[in-house]
Amino acid sequence: MSADSTAFDLVIRGGTVVTPQGPSQLDIGVRDGVIAALGAGLPKGQSEVDATGHIVLPGGIDSHCHMDQQPWEGRSSADDFRTGTLSAMCGGTTTVIPFAMQMRGQSLRAIVDDYYERARPKAHIDYSFHLVVGDPTPEVLSRELPALIAEGCTSIKIYLTYDGLKLDDYEVLQVLDLARREGAMVMVHAENDGCIRWLTERLLAERKTKIKYHVASHPDIGDREATYRAISLSELAEAPVLVAHVAAGAAVDEIRRAKARGVPIYAETCPQYLFLSADDLDTHDMSGAKCVCTPPPKHKDNQQHIWRGVLDGTLDCFTSDHSPINYVDKIAGGPDTPFTKIPLGVPGIETRLPLLFSAAVSGGRMTLLDFAEITATRAARLFGLYPRKGVIAVGSDADLAIWDPEKRVTITNTILHHATDYTPYEGMEVQGWPVTTISRGEVVWANGAVSSNAGRGKFIACERPLQRMTTPIAALKG
Ligand code: MN
Repeated sequence: MSADSTAFDLVIRGGTVVTPQGPSQLDIGVRDGVIAALGAGLPKGQSEVDATGHIVLPGGIDSHCHMDQQPWEGRSSADDFRTGTLSAMCGGTTTVIPFAMQMRGQSLRAIVDDYYERARPKAHIDYSFHLVVGDPTPEVLSRELPALIAEGCTSIKIYLTYDGLKLDDYEVLQVLDLARREGAMVMVHAENDGCIRWLTERLLAERKTKIKYHVASHPDIGDREATYRAISLSELAEAPVLVAHVAAGAAVDEIRRAKARGVPIYAETCPQYLFLSADDLDTHDMSGAKCVCTPPPKHKDNQQHIWRGVLDGTLDCFTSDHSPINYVDKIAGGPDTPFTKIPLGVPGIETRLPLLFSAAVSGGRMTLLDFAEITATRAARLFGLYPRKGVIAVGSDADLAIWDPEKRVTITNTILHHATDYTPYEGMEVQGWPVTTISRGEVVWANGAVSSNAGRGKFIACERPLQRMTTPIAALKG
């Protein structure tokens, strides 16, 4: 490290800095967008940020969020990369991983090329892509995926439900086999499609069409079965999976059991499963539509099981699943709209971190280091971004969020920067807010003001998160 007083472009001084060793009083010296030094009393930088009394955390990684995805089942995205990444950044997030989504009959390559063009001129912060594989044809498996993984899209998302997206068990195994050979991570949407279809038909036949029945149509048993099936297929194919948006306590139990027997299973949950419940969909007017997403928020007493999974490490990542659907579009069908016709998804890319910080860190239930892990570090490791992203360390990108742990904020949609016309957390009060966000050494958000340009964010090619495996699986050994 150079002691030259002009060595640093930026010094963040006097904050409590959360490194992998835990929180400590350190200055951060930044040069060329990278953390060049960590230490006490660093020499003056060309510019300085005073972080006295504040907490400096790794900028969040939102490894499950949607923006400007192709229209699907009548859903059109309220947020493109400009507003989606702006909102993320103002909520203390510095990297997003949204989804390039292939459906039956489409070329994955063409979808990804289109998605690059949607992101490049508009992103405020850095981004990578997950590849939604909705049609694992021989062409996709043998050519498109290996090439896309080689160029830095190293994670695959598959669905066990939804027409046009769902894969059968045989197809899941084919994708897992490809992922094993290529060292890619597979995320699974684990709900049982047959359970949902069967219950939905029964509910509609009994004229149970109100919004609240969306919860009943997505039973915890189906989440449990699909999670167990994903784990089982993962074990057979010897390829790890990450269970997306874990909503049901019964699914947490399956993940905990798999981890206990040493299976490399990973999982994430989202704010809607800690802070919303079935009660929020059971309204006299249509406002329950604001909380319609899949899996839906479960019954109130389920929240404690998700909390336990968050706090005991069963759930590795905390992501938003930001799905920007306007409320006006959700209720466009009028008051008699059956629950099956309410567009799915809740926004939350900007409120993700403050909600968890307030309830878990300010609430005294989670250490700052664990908060950094579940909101940034583990996602970086699981998706091949570590140590460039997700950690405060010399040599890592200077992607930082500076938090005022005392700041009290009442969440209301007018203070948020997404283009979605509501937040499901309207009126909730939180303690702790990210007051400054720094992306690759540039202050992009500070004291309520944005100082960033759309298009400054870069595509980050992910490394392969897993070792490439060419040896036969145990099931093939004689
Ligand atoms: Mn999603």
